[in-house]
Amino acid sequence: MTALPATTGRTATTPDAGAGPDVRAAVAAVVDPEIRVVTIAELGILRDVSTDPATGRVTVTITPTYTGCPAMDVIRADIRRAMAAAGHPDGEVRTVFAPPWSTDWITVGGRAKLAAAGIAPPGPARPAGPVAVPLAVRCPHCGALDTEQISRFGSTACKALWRCRSCREPFDQVKAL
Ligand SMILES: [Zn+2]
Repeated sequence: MTALPATTGRTATTPDAGAGPDVRAAVAAVVDPEIRVVTIAELGILRDVSTDPATGRVTVTITPTYTGCPAMDVIRADIRRAMAAAGHPDGEVRTVFAPPWSTDWITVGGRAKLAAAGIAPPGPARPAGPVAVPLAVRCPHCGALDTEQISRFGSTACKALWRCRSCREPFDQVKAL
């Protein structure tokens, strides 16, 4: 007999087997192949990790980022590898397109990691006010707001290339979407 923990935070409809939390953590730790400092959980790509209570089969649900982003194939393969390593080689990766992914889904922690890596996090994709005011992009190197966009495309299509007029360093910014 195994004593159940008093509070697991789970509902009765998702009675995960013991491997549940492990595979969840393994999948959440998969990094974005283009921006390797952030995980798919921090980017908001990872929507759900569920375990079928009858079969124990794991289903991972993801929402792609930018349309046609070739990184998604790499992410799917990495998720399958993470599931297999956590003891679920038969796990499934499901892709859902609605609601569409937005850079607003990037977590606070993910934004901090981007900035620490010299990549400016995206501004709000859907400004709260009735008039969309372009927001200044903060230089991830020195923190100055005196920055200018050099190119709409940085090292990848998902990023724009900026330059800081204060410290003169170029930097990538994840485009708001
Ligand atoms: Zn700067």
